[in-house]
Amino acid sequence: MELALLGGKPVRSTPFTVWPAFGREEEEALLEVLRSGSWGGYNEKVEEFEAAFAALHHVKHAISCANGTVALETALRALGVVCGDEVIVPPFTFVATATAVLLCHGAPVFVDIDPETLNLSPEAVEAAITPRTKAVIAVHFGGRPADMDALGAIARRHNLYVVEDAAHAHGAVWRGVPVGNFGVVGTFSFQAFKLVTSGEGGVMVTNDAAVASRLWSYCNQGRRKGGEWYKHFTLGSNYRLTGFQAAILNAQLRKLPEQSRIRAENADYLRSQLRSFSGLAMAERDTRAEREPYYLVTLRYDPSCFSGISRDLFVRALEAEGVPAQRAYPYPLYRNPVFARRNLPPCACESWKAPQDYETLCLPESERICHEGIWLEHSLFLGTRQDVDDILAAFGKVQRLAASLPSLQESG
Ligand SMILES: *Cc1c(COP(=O)(O)O)cnc(C)c1O
Repeated sequence: MELALLGGKPVRSTPFTVWPAFGREEEEALLEVLRSGSWGGYNEKVEEFEAAFAALHHVKHAISCANGTVALETALRALGVVCGDEVIVPPFTFVATATAVLLCHGAPVFVDIDPETLNLSPEAVEAAITPRTKAVIAVHFGGRPADMDALGAIARRHNLYVVEDAAHAHGAVWRGVPVGNFGVVGTFSFQAFKLVTSGEGGVMVTNDAAVASRLWSYCNQGRRKGGEWYKHFTLGSNYRLTGFQAAILNAQLRKLPEQSRIRAENADYLRSQLRSFSGLAMAERDTRAEREPYYLVTLRYDPSCFSGISRDLFVRALEAEGVPAQRAYPYPLYRNPVFARRNLPPCACESWKAPQDYETLCLPESERICHEGIWLEHSLFLGTRQDVDDILAAFGKVQRLAASLPSLQESG
């Protein structure tokens, strides 16, 4: 047997579940909007979707918007984040979590993550609080809820807002309560790769009626809900999603619970099999996270169990075997050029000052997971147990034959 990377027969030659997945429901709902003549953001399907999303997450208000990035930005604006305010964020997340802060002219403060959950370390959060700190953005990374007990207690002690970036965590439940209920605002994304998708799209949830009306108004040109069309009370923009998107989202949302159940079952099976496999570690279940949608499964790679081949070469070998694994983010967010001194401040205002030297920042757990992490995306878990067995077979094959690879290492 030879590695597929060296010309051998791959473990798997059939594709895994294709994402996004759709059926008759999405097609029919789209045609209905097309024929209705009401294509924009005031189509009744938008409110229908908002109500369904709010019901699934047990929240009072859901306000849809154009994407998960503007959802975060709007949430921070509605909470009054202004120039110079510090907002604590993790560095192991998608860039939007931190750039939303800059877009409001706030200053992101990166703090390290917990190595087990990959979510904000509550101790690190508390240590980073200053008189300028206004809010904390808790990302539920990969669909695993952050420690909302600890973060909630810290926020209450220091009078901070919590915003939940739940872009990975549609339908996740922490100790009996769905995500989105722990922060003042929770935000979600419906970008093409997310668990519920309309290509692009987002939503903000809250239990606070005053915050809800500010969120809605900002996305609707400063209008008041039910008010006159050409009467604008506050500064706002147009961040609406369309009737077409809402039509798709209604259908997608109905499938989420069953899809999450299937993913959890397959991910649990992978975890149980990896316990007796050295070199690839998967976090144990957090019993406080009652429902995890498994957006991303992150494995820690130990090259010493694979004849010393690099993580990147291991991933290439897996891809050749027909298992589309991915490397984690190349580096923590603060290493991106957007945070370099020459590109800051985000405004010309005197009161903005960087709370950290982003260019020299080094948070060890975030650095380590970027170096060791391998991602298996959610669609790999939407099929059968055989799919997981194929993934495991590819892991085993590359491990057994890794010694035949080091010569490739240098060519990258
Ligand atoms: C996808 C994502 C976003 C932003 O969502 P968009 O809809 O792509 O703007 C924000 N935060 C995290 C963690 C994400 O993964």
